[in-house]
Amino acid sequence: MFARWCSATEGDESTARAFLRCDQAALKEEPSMKVTTHQAVCVASGNCGFVAPAVFRNREEHGGFVELLDRNPSETEWNSVKTAEYLCPSGAIQIDDQPIPPR
Ligand code: SF4
Repeated sequence: MFARWCSATEGDESTARAFLRCDQAALKEEPSMKVTTHQAVCVASGNCGFVAPAVFRNREEHGGFVELLDRNPSETEWNSVKTAEYLCPSGAIQIDDQPIPPR
């Protein structure tokens, strides 16, 4: 199941050991969040910078359009980022959660 994270190839004498190392590495993989903003569809409502100021900013000198400050926010910001995505009136915020691989 974890083979997709492994680089070991068939015929490799240490394939079993390589897969074991990959299994262990996959289990230790930390969950993360990847955030993307789409400037072309942002309507500068400012919701995102209000609810998640550590991740988004809406400066007046940029017309209030979204600036992404942190594309991989820490877990403490995830709820705020999800709220920002929910409140975004234009769908300009995209979140790609990368959960822990299944065991
Ligand atoms: S909430 Fe959405 S539309 Fe509003 S500023 Fe942020 S990205 Fe742009």
